Amino acid sequence: MFTVRGDGVDLAVFEDGDPAGETVLLVHGYPDTHTVWDELVERLKDRFHVVTYDVRGAGGSSRPSGRGHYTFEKLMADMAAVLDTVAAPGKKVHLVAHDWGAIQSWEAVCTMPERFASFTSFSGPCLDHVAHWTRSKLRRPSPHNLRLAAQQGVRSWYIYAFQTPVLPELLWRIGAKRFTRILKVVEGVPATGTYPAKTLARDGAAGVGLYRANMLERLRHPGDRRTGVPVQVIVPTKDLFVSPHLVGGLQKWVPDLRLRPIHAGHWVQRTHPDVIARWVALHITDVQGGTLTDTETRALRHARVGSERRRFEGDLVVVTGAGSGIGRATVLAFAEQGAQVVAADLNLETAEHTAELARLLGATAHAYRIDVSDTAAMEEFAKAVRHEHGVPDVVVNNAGIGMAGSFLDHTPEDWRKVLDVNLWGVIHGSRLFAAQMVERGEGGHIVNTASAAAFTPSRILPAYSTSKAAVLMLSECLRADLASQGIGVSAICPGIVNTGITRSSQFVGKSAQDQSRSRKRAQRAYALRNFGPERVAAQILAAVRDDRAVVPVTIEARLGYLISRISPGAMRLLARLKVG
Ligand code: NAD
Repeated sequence: MFTVRGDGVDLAVFEDGDPAGETVLLVHGYPDTHTVWDELVERLKDRFHVVTYDVRGAGGSSRPSGRGHYTFEKLMADMAAVLDTVAAPGKKVHLVAHDWGAIQSWEAVCTMPERFASFTSFSGPCLDHVAHWTRSKLRRPSPHNLRLAAQQGVRSWYIYAFQTPVLPELLWRIGAKRFTRILKVVEGVPATGTYPAKTLARDGAAGVGLYRANMLERLRHPGDRRTGVPVQVIVPTKDLFVSPHLVGGLQKWVPDLRLRPIHAGHWVQRTHPDVIARWVALHITDVQGGTLTDTETRALRHARVGSERRRFEGDLVVVTGAGSGIGRATVLAFAEQGAQVVAADLNLETAEHTAELARLLGATAHAYRIDVSDTAAMEEFAKAVRHEHGVPDVVVNNAGIGMAGSFLDHTPEDWRKVLDVNLWGVIHGSRLFAAQMVERGEGGHIVNTASAAAFTPSRILPAYSTSKAAVLMLSECLRADLASQGIGVSAICPGIVNTGITRSSQFVGKSAQDQSRSRKRAQRAYALRNFGPERVAAQILAAVRDDRAVVPVTIEARLGYLISRISPGAMRLLARLKVG
């Protein structure tokens, strides 16, 4: 630690890591000190020259009283003094900032951009941008816009409270211990030996000046704040103080912008230090023109904001049963939206053809042969995907087979076959890839292809319907389990879709001749219904985009879903119909 003379105050500055490396300046928020960065410093110091400092009013720095000491002008002069000391003349630094640290860092990258090579901001927007954002919502007061503005208004309750004289200071003096407990219970941020700092009560009381000196003035008279510095905004979607929607329209002010949503709360550098360190390092490597792995390049493409950016740009999507029908259409739909795709099927030739078609759409595509019912093979497959392409962002467990006939005509072997592919295939895919997504900590989405048969009982599909009902329930359970990790789960329930399934479906209890006749009849009926697999694929993409739980596709599936809920008795009568 050493002291730097700021604008009339002494600032406690801390240095770590490799002095020859790129300088990363970490700016803390309110009511923190530099110790909020402890975990991040540990993870960055091997590669970078890491500098933190206590901003005026906090920790080991001077604590002047009165709002006049906490204006943006003073804060900028302090930051410039720190930069003059820690960075070689003319050398730009990489700025990383949280909460109020980010608010003042936005001011810095907009007013002295020549000093910064990159900026990573989280949970602290530019106040001018917030003012413009709020005005734009109120100018077009649709219910949606009003709701967004109100949501941020409610999250900002403490800003208004801080405008009252004396009371906030008093509360800090008596309630600092309680704040530490709330931090643990509500945000999942436990206290350590150094965090929150011992000076918390005094820091909290002094830092109120930041809000009084700047907030209302800036929100009332916002300026035109733009920056050419490459910016990465990490967006914690569970932030109790800053709405994730505030990044809407940010590109207008920041042309070189990347957005990184994360399912986390306000103190994300303490709850998810590995992910944040990875993203900070990646952003810096990118702007420095350093070497990136394929996975890293893809992740950056995904994060980059641009008018021509497609919805799944840079995502890695794995689809099973991708050699035909719904699986193939899903691969192509994701490919069209910019995803890198892995097409897996029991039939390698058809999987390769799907990958080839995806490449024609401009996507990077890979084909794998996989039997989804084979536990060991699925483990190998998941390992290979991770090793060669990285952790998938979306997995579509779609492979499935059809089987029809009365219950007494199904042999135990028939049951095993259907359950092995239709249910165990989904269990394997979900288990193996969900584990990878959880470990990575950046969320993801799992889609399981169930069927309308999952909720429409029928005397002719006992094994198939049972397998699909199990897939639907599995998806619901998984959805509940993985929600806290930011991983969505959707069950897709198509009705009659014109694919190859009728050609391969087994009609048990029938002679070969009768089987072939039944297949032909089914093929004709499916062709007549004429609902293409690409329409199911479009619903799968929408389910991922909107994180939908259960998606009945086709009118008969939607009707079936409705009747099963409002009149199960009618559904039981329909189940007795002998079709086929
Ligand atoms: P499809 O027969 O056209 O495609 C299924 C693909 O899965 C084929 O390429 C096949 O080779 C592959 N496959 C089969 N067993 C496999 C295994 N063990 N491992 C890996 N791949 C395997 O059928 P589709 O209609 O596209 O079916 C896709 C999914 O949609 C299935 O789960 C099916 O049950 C479901 N579904 C289809 C309909 C429909 O009407 N077509 C309706 C509801 C649900």
